[in-house]
Amino acid sequence: MALIETNDGLWFHEDLYPEISCGFRVSAVLHRERSAFQDILIIDTPVLGKVLVLDGIVQCAQKDEAIYHEMLAHAGMFLRLTLAPAATGLEVLVVGGGDGGMARECLKHARVARITVVDIDPGVRAAMLAHFPELPAGAYTDPRLTAVDADAVGFVREQRNRFDLIIADTPDPVGAALPLFGREFVADCHAALKAGGVFVRHGGSLLLQTDEFFRTRADVVATFGPERTRAGLLATCTYLGGWFTWLSAVKNTPHPEGEPALRDMRARFEQAALDVRWYSPEMQLASQVLPEWLADIEPNSSRRNDIS
Ligand code: SAM
Repeated sequence: MALIETNDGLWFHEDLYPEISCGFRVSAVLHRERSAFQDILIIDTPVLGKVLVLDGIVQCAQKDEAIYHEMLAHAGMFLRLTLAPAATGLEVLVVGGGDGGMARECLKHARVARITVVDIDPGVRAAMLAHFPELPAGAYTDPRLTAVDADAVGFVREQRNRFDLIIADTPDPVGAALPLFGREFVADCHAALKAGGVFVRHGGSLLLQTDEFFRTRADVVATFGPERTRAGLLATCTYLGGWFTWLSAVKNTPHPEGEPALRDMRARFEQAALDVRWYSPEMQLASQVLPEWLADIEPNSSRRNDIS
């Protein structure tokens, strides 16, 4: 489906769900390619600006990508800084994330010494640099960044007690990305973190991928522990379904929260003087205030469908 020529010009319709789709007018097709792994499409649109699409599924759009990238990257960074105030030379791993948006945000932190972006498809990076360079915004020329063209499953399995922060910036759990959602992969990420290290990932659309969210959270809770895991909600116009979920978890240490965490992260946020469009520590904590039926972490809770 994806690109459709109509009487009203060229439109894009997302292929993610069989029964519901999001569409927007296309002003230009900037890049189209079948890489060894997936269909890569970059379009320009009047409302959302440039949009990266993989296998017919929207990954990020200029209009609202900051909401997703800033929240996951800075929540992860400030949680880590709160837990390790004296740490210098922080080491970050981005799983997937070949578009460069997550790396761009992490690199805003002066205390990051090294960031590794492991994406299976070098074609995504090449296409972004050629046709959508506003999104990585120089991340790939930062000497602190190393790009690894590999399946993240094998890469992560070989790491031990190395990273301060791991962000799983994965697509939906289909194809090569499917193993990035299993409990085994979460356990490998846990092993790859230092004690007090932070794991962040998205959990899909709350209302359209409810089972995926509950499964993903159950995997993270089973690995890190309930008192070390928090879920949050954010909203963007390009991820269909209203609320989009994200998770943060801490290795071997209770998850910072409440007033003390907020005070600490606010002080660090002001010190860091980040150039951001969406993130603040208050937004982070507010994002993790959930309706009661959702805050119940029992995976088989009978309250899980309270919204429908
Ligand atoms: N923010 C996006 C979202 O949730 O829609 C995802 C961002 S990023 C474009 C996802 C990246 O994961 C893609 O570039 C894809 O090539 C990569 N990817 C998929 N499977 C992978 C795997 N097994 N190992 C490493 N990278 C993978």
